[in-house]
Amino acid sequence: MDLPRNPTRAVNIGSITIGNGNPIAVQSMCATHTQDIDATVAQANALVAAGANVVRIAADSKPDAAALAEIRKQTTANLSVDLQENYRLAEIIGPHVDKIRYNPGHLYHHEREKPWQEKVKYIVGVAGDSDCAIRIGVNCGSVDPAMADKYDDDDSISPMLESALDHCEFLDSLGFQRYCVSLKDSDPQKVIEVNRRFAVERPDVPMHLGVTEAGMPPDGIIKTRIAFEQLISQGIGDTVRVSLTLPNSRKPEEIDAGRQILADIAAGRVRSFVDFQLDTLNIISCPSCSRVENEAFIELAQDVKEMTAYAKDHAITIAVMGCRVNGPGETDDADLGLWCGPTVVNLKKGPQSIGAYGYDEILPRLKAELDKLIAGREAA
Ligand code: SF4
Repeated sequence: MDLPRNPTRAVNIGSITIGNGNPIAVQSMCATHTQDIDATVAQANALVAAGANVVRIAADSKPDAAALAEIRKQTTANLSVDLQENYRLAEIIGPHVDKIRYNPGHLYHHEREKPWQEKVKYIVGVAGDSDCAIRIGVNCGSVDPAMADKYDDDDSISPMLESALDHCEFLDSLGFQRYCVSLKDSDPQKVIEVNRRFAVERPDVPMHLGVTEAGMPPDGIIKTRIAFEQLISQGIGDTVRVSLTLPNSRKPEEIDAGRQILADIAAGRVRSFVDFQLDTLNIISCPSCSRVENEAFIELAQDVKEMTAYAKDHAITIAVMGCRVNGPGETDDADLGLWCGPTVVNLKKGPQSIGAYGYDEILPRLKAELDKLIAGREAA
């Protein structure tokens, strides 16, 4: 079945081209420590063997950047680097990768010293000099606070959308067109809405689709499928990632899942999940990456899912995140949130911190909070 495709422009990422009717590319991200060069090369190659068209790797420090230069020598994968606040690392990394992903929500820090436009101009300069594409990666849990303040608290879509559109306009003004955009949320319905609205405004910009923190399979695959079916059937999406919480040895399953969803949509095997609502227990968990602070994170996410199964009929969201970089922000909207540090797990109720507990103490603490939450709702 020929799917309609938005008339996006072509963007080269290493050996592939996305947009302009090219096949939808499938991506994943290494969850190994970037400085563990052997492990990262092995994982990048395993992802490529599974069919990954692009492999993303996080770089948070100069040693990470140096490792990427070595990784580049040992793999033919099309590499994308994930930058956070450390945008200046782009200069070291640019020559060794094919794409630079930055998050607009991570560039507002120290705004008075340097406005985001100057930082983006710098990244664009590096990308131009290094023959790299750029992804403007907007994430629900880390939107520029100034942008969020412009809208009602219950409108999380508009700040993401405006942020993406502003950055597109700015890159356009610099004459840089080799970019794509992603707008990710852990709620598939919000992913559908924000990407649809963006595509109406900028049908020319290639889009990378994903449901962030979708969690473990099979739930994480189902959530992602819901969003992809709706968007891709309408011509939206040039590259995709299925983000799943998996141990490193199973990371290629993200690629298998992405390819399967695309194959099903292309064959018309679309299941109708339009009325899907998160009205039951919803465990969201990050897919992990090199920033995970304790290897026990994956097991913890699995234990949380098993321990909380008794609450399956309650409309409660529990978030489990692997690190301090995104964990604190991305647990704010959950009813209960856990984000992992090296030796303790931080427990939150909405945006409020409850305390930090050892890995062997956290499950009973979480259960106590979950029981209180359920009892409070039943009494209301
Ligand atoms: Fe990586 Fe942290 Fe995001 Fe998990 S929450 S994927 S560990 S950055």
